[in-house]
This record gives sequence, structure tokens and C-alpha cells, in this order.
Amino acid sequence: MARTATALRNTPELPQAISSTSTWDDDTWRFDLTRPGVTDSSRTIDWTFELPDGSRFTDPGWAALRNTVKRLLWSLRTDPPAGKRRLGPGSLISDFNRIRVLVCWMVSEGYDSFSQLDADAAAGFMSEVKERPGRKGEALSLGTLAGYLLVLTRLYAQREKLDDGVPDDLQRFLEEYGPRFPRVLRQGRAFPYTPDAIATALIGGALRLIGTPADDVISLRDLAAVAYAYRLDGKPTPAREARARRMLDGFSFSTLPKEDSPWHAPVVQLKDIYALIERIYDACFVVIAWLVGARVSEILGLEAGCIERHVGPDGQQVTYLHGRIYKMATGDGGQPHRWIAPEPVVRAVDVLEQLSAPIRKKLGPSNLWMLTRDPILLRQPIGIPHTGAFGGRLNSSFRTMLDLPLHQGRPWHLNTHQGRKTFARFIGKRDRTGLHALQEHLGHVSRVMTDTAYVGTDFELAELINDEILKETRAALEDLLTASNLSGHAGRMIASRSPFRGRTQDGDLGEYIDFILKDSGMVLGVCDWGYCLYRREHSACQGDDHGPNAVLRTQSACARCANFAVSQRHRAVWQDRKVRNAQLLEHPALDGESRKLAQERILECDRILRGLDGENDGVR
Ligand code: SF4
Repeated sequence: MARTATALRNTPELPQAISSTSTWDDDTWRFDLTRPGVTDSSRTIDWTFELPDGSRFTDPGWAALRNTVKRLLWSLRTDPPAGKRRLGPGSLISDFNRIRVLVCWMVSEGYDSFSQLDADAAAGFMSEVKERPGRKGEALSLGTLAGYLLVLTRLYAQREKLDDGVPDDLQRFLEEYGPRFPRVLRQGRAFPYTPDAIATALIGGALRLIGTPADDVISLRDLAAVAYAYRLDGKPTPAREARARRMLDGFSFSTLPKEDSPWHAPVVQLKDIYALIERIYDACFVVIAWLVGARVSEILGLEAGCIERHVGPDGQQVTYLHGRIYKMATGDGGQPHRWIAPEPVVRAVDVLEQLSAPIRKKLGPSNLWMLTRDPILLRQPIGIPHTGAFGGRLNSSFRTMLDLPLHQGRPWHLNTHQGRKTFARFIGKRDRTGLHALQEHLGHVSRVMTDTAYVGTDFELAELINDEILKETRAALEDLLTASNLSGHAGRMIASRSPFRGRTQDGDLGEYIDFILKDSGMVLGVCDWGYCLYRREHSACQGDDHGPNAVLRTQSACARCANFAVSQRHRAVWQDRKVRNAQLLEHPALDGESRKLAQERILECDRILRGLDGENDGVR
């Protein structure tokens, strides 16, 4: 194997300085990244890694290959492929980690330049990568494989800007392999959302913890700080320890409404209180991430006093969470941003302010996430945890405490980015039939974000939501066009005209839906008990240009609205409504007016259900 040390370094466009502390020739590149939650390793590229032949990548023999990798990364930062954005340091480091695997594979196969990386070599590399064990010995995820493919795609796209570019032949591989990873070119979209059942249990459990349990834990923390204060200036003695434990013995946790015993068993050891404090922090993190859609760095950058209340032009009060967006921001301090904050988020911030108060008092900064392993006596180092720490905690102690359900028989792996993706999905969801548990918290946010002209500066989040809306609209159209029977005015009209009625999904249907979406720009209105094919002029709830009127949008209004369609998916909602109203009628104390209302609702339900059974629902 020939190793050449061609001098590629002296071209004028290469920078001397990579950051305020690193230069081009340094063995490590340390980027100026000070956003909250970034560890030293996650802002550093270490070029000294070991290769399979025992050499180091910084050895002189690898100078040519090393400089090509450096050039590639730098070109992605300063001169990206046409139409692509410049990569930030975080993305460069992710790419470096994948390229390191590629370089190691090349060395083990006897390649010493990218010009040898043709279609066959790339196929060999991807086969090898596929065999690598992933987390806990499982197969690598599609997202991880897509990351490696993305690096090959970037090597190809930048080949003419490199002295040792990959051959044109690599395109053959990318054309064949790329379509198997449709998300590869849409970086960042590969993160899955949390499945509904897990998300509901996760958010429900977190909401429970930030209520009375959080107050209990804060009181316990304060009591323990007094009980164990002697440890700050004296050695523990059996007598002092016993007195401290006696003080804590008197503390009992609250019994929550509709529960018959305290929410937690008594604790007296400091380490058990530490764990409880951590779980409350975790709960606050989940509430903010899953109900606001902020990124982990944005959450970890929040400061005390970050809640703002404003009265909008329509007189409605809107509450905002005020913070900073670091991704894509020019400069390291991030760009100011306001997220719409539902009430639970306001509460989570209040809890964080109380939890962090002693640390903030001691140190001065206003950050809400200054944590220490000793949160009662504050003797250990204090800092903002790195982003990975939350992922680890959510999948261990927090998951155990909440007893999250399994997903397809296995624990669902949570990550901090899922909150954002799940939030976008909730907001974009047009058919919220199965999400009653979250509706209460997200309903207002959703209305402000999608029914009004709110845009904010988090354009990527707006794009994620739009993608979800389009996906939902497409799924709904498939359901509507292929259903054998539909109910509701619009449903009957579609069922009578659809050329796909009763058919399974096929290519023609996909093209037809593309045509409808492209031609009409149609978007479904949000409706929790059916589909709303929103046209303002036919809106029984008196909606406006932005969509249905959230106040007047009731099941009865929809049942008589020309925009309304119901499919089998919504049958349970109407059956439940019928049962509930029938039970109401059995109540002896029911007044006449309520009785009449219940009877009318039962008739509405019957009409909808008859339509779903293919019978005439008696409405013209
Ligand atoms: S009343 Fe009509 S327009 Fe309003 S949400 Fe229901 S179906 Fe849509």
C-alpha cells in the first residue's frame, strides 16, 4: 500500500485559524461553541485517532488523505454544494465521526485515497457498516446508516473542490442505494417522533410530577438543607446524623387527588432526595421539550424570568417562553426567540426557578439548569449538564419511575430531539381523534401557531409542522377516497364521486392525491371527530381565512356542516357520544332542556353511524 504525503496545504483559500483556539495544522480542532449543553468532546475534532494498521491519522504518511478530509469538512462549512446550507461546527463534527469510520475501513482494505472510492468500494463500505453492532448490540438504525450515506453523498458533491476527489463512478452507487434512504438528503428529519401511546404516558407522567410532587420535593430539599447543614462546617457524627434523619422522618409526601396513598414512599437518605430532585428536573425537561418543540440547547439556555405574558390584538392573552435559538445563529450567543407556552410549561419554568434558586443565589447566573450532584448542600461542581445526559436519564431512571408502556414489546428509546418532532406532529395533526389526553395542553398552542399568523423565528419548526400537515392531509385523502362508506355532507359527496372507492391504495391514487394537493393547495382543518375539508364559505362554525373557529367548532356544528366527513376511523367517537348521551337521559333529575339536547345529539350520532354503515343518513 502506497502512502503519499503530497503537500496540499499551501493553497491560498485554506484558513490558518479554525477558531479562536485552533489552527489548520493542529492535531485537534476545537470550535468556539459555547451553547448550553455542549461538552468539550462535542466541540472537538481529534485528528490523532488510531488506524487499523496501528498508525495514527496524524502520522506524516497520511498527510494527503488527512488534508483531503480537512478540505472536505472546511468546504462544507464555507463553500457547500449548490442549494445546501453551510454546515455548523456540530454538523462538521458529526460528519468527521462518520468519515473516521470510512477512513479506518479504507485503510483496512488497502485504499489510501478517495480517488479509489468507486461504486463497488462504496458498496463494500456500506455492507461493512451494516454489520457493525449498534446500541446494545442491535443492528444499526436506518438513521445511522443514512448518516454514512450522506457523507458519501457529500464526498461526491464536493469532489471537484478536492485534490483527491471521489471518482464520478460513485454516482452509480448513490443512484442505486440512495432511494432506499429517502430521508438521507433531508438531514434532521430522520428523528422519529414518540409514538402516541408512549408520548401520552411520558407527558402525562411528567405533568403529574411537576404538580404537587414537585412542591413536595422542593420542601423536602429545603428541609434536608437545614437538617444536614452541619456537614458544611463539621464532621458527621452519629448523633448529628440521627438528629438530621429524625427531622426528615417527619416529612410525608402528599396523596394526590383520586389516589389513595402518598405518591412516594418516605425517604431519609440524601442520595434518595438527590434522585427525586433529578426526576423533577427530567419532568420539567420533558414538559418543555414535548409541549413547546424547543431544541435541547434552547431548553438548557433558559433563564429565570423567561415567561412573558402578552395580550394579542384579539384581546386574548398569549404566554411566551423567551429564550435563544443557537442553531444557524450567527455568533455564539444565539438569536432571541419566543415560543408559545401552554400553562404546564409556565408551571415547569416556575418549578425550575424554585429548584435552581439556591444555586443561582450562590453563583449569580440566572440559568435554570445549573446542576450539581449535590443539589442540597451544593458542595460539588456546578454546571449545565451536557445534552447527552438527559437522553441517558430519560431512558433509565425517568422511564422506570413513570413505568412507560412498551412499544411493540420493547422499551421505546427516547431522545431529546423527539420532543421537537413529536410536538410538530401534534400541532400538524389534523385528525386528533386519539389525542384527547394532550388536546387540553396543546389546543391553545396549536390555535395560535396554525390558526393565526404566528411565525416566530424558528423557521425549521414551522417547516416541520407544515410537513406534518401535508402528511396528515395526504393520509386523510387516502382514507376518504378509498372508503366504501363515509358520513357527513362532504363525506357523502366524496364517496359518491371517488373513482377509488372501495379500492386499496395504488399508484393511480397517489398521483390523484398529488394532483389534488398541487392543484387546490387543500389543507384539512383541525377537527377532532372527523375530517374537515375546510372551505370558509361553507363553514358552520363561522371560521375565517385561517381555518375553523375553535370556539364554535363543536360536534353538533360539524354534523350539519357541508365541510364535514367521517370515516370508520372516527366511528368510536360517535359511538361513545351516543352512549354518553343515552346515559344522561336515564338520569331522573335531568331538566327538560338538557333532555332535549341529549336526544338531539343521539339523533346526530345515529345519522353519522348510519352513514358509516352505508345506509341513507336521512340528511340531504
Ligand atoms: S363546523 Fe365545519 S368548518 Fe367548522 S370544523 Fe366542523 S367541519 Fe370544519
